[in-house]
Amino acid sequence: MNTEAVPTPKNLASATAQPPLRVDELIAQSTVPTRSFEFFPPKDDEGFVALYRTIDRLRPLQPGYVSVTYGAGGSTRQKTVDLAGRIQNEIGIRSVAHLTCVGHTRDEIGAILDGLWDAGIRNVLALRGDPPKGQTEFVQTEGGFAFASELISFIAERNPGFCVLTSGYPEGHIHCLNKVRDLENLKAKQDAGASVIVTQFFFDNAELYRFRDEARAIGITAPIVAGLMPVVSVAGVKRMVALSGARIPNPLLVALEKVEGDNDAVAQIGTEHALQQSRDLLANGVDGIHFYTLNRSRATVDICTALGEP
Ligand SMILES: Cc1cc2nc3c(=O)[nH]c(=O)nc-3n(C[C@H](O)[C@H](O)[C@H](O)COP(=O)(O)OP(=O)(O)OC[C@H]3O[C@@H](n4cnc5c(N)ncnc54)[C@H](O)[C@@H]3O)c2cc1C
Repeated sequence: MNTEAVPTPKNLASATAQPPLRVDELIAQSTVPTRSFEFFPPKDDEGFVALYRTIDRLRPLQPGYVSVTYGAGGSTRQKTVDLAGRIQNEIGIRSVAHLTCVGHTRDEIGAILDGLWDAGIRNVLALRGDPPKGQTEFVQTEGGFAFASELISFIAERNPGFCVLTSGYPEGHIHCLNKVRDLENLKAKQDAGASVIVTQFFFDNAELYRFRDEARAIGITAPIVAGLMPVVSVAGVKRMVALSGARIPNPLLVALEKVEGDNDAVAQIGTEHALQQSRDLLANGVDGIHFYTLNRSRATVDICTALGEP
């Protein structure tokens, strides 16, 4: 089903105007910062049942959009397209499909874009991607792309109807030589056609504000949506921090380690920290908040409920 309209989200400026499918248009029309949620395609049917339950619980929070990740090495190719399409067309939430360069030729990327377009998806988060399991370095596929900026140019030229979102790294990408170079690379992604930036998660808002100031200073004008990941597991956050280059402030780390064996206490601290971050981000004029839900609903529901209506 190809529909250009989804149910009117609360945070649109006008209740009568047709809500746009493109996230850049949504953000431009929105009078308040957008709230969005990220999911990954589960491995099996049981995981999908649990995910749909999660989406059911999150839906009343009226997210501006949700995004669906693309598995390392393209492992979730069809699942990402199908899940993003189903969330938008059957559940009625505007969706963003992630897409990476890993293991794909231009022709394959073109075919995936056609599949997304046919499913009514108008938003793509275009990424270079991480190396598949067992490999340490990203290797460009013959006939494929070396950097996200090349993928973004390809999409913008081939399918200008897509809103292309891109990744930003408040603390610098883990493999970048320095933050100045990383920001220049981000500017190149905007110049290639990306119109919304979604950041890597961070635990210290000062990092986001510095990143935003430095980005604006070099002519990055695209909205910057702040990525937040409420901590639900100490081992999990340590693993993700090691992979992402984000840092955990010491007081938060000490508090989490003190209750490491108690899942509820860990989640409570993680939720409270993300809630304080959210309040501060909203007070400081952030364009949107993107919650890395890890396919769970509890922390995101608690935070958005405490924040009140968007
Ligand atoms: C919001 C968000 C969502 C994500 N979703 C997924 C997902 O669904 N699936 C997944 O596999 N991964 C995902 N990732 C992780 C991402 O794939 C990795 O961080 C990956 O290592 C970099 O991808 P990128 O698109 O940011 O790369 P790029 O923007 O291409 O940057 C990669 C590195 O190359 C450098 N660089 C860029 N251009 C140049 C150039 N011209 N010359 C030299 N160096 C350059 C950059 O500074 C950076 O160090 C996500 C990350 C974020 C922040």
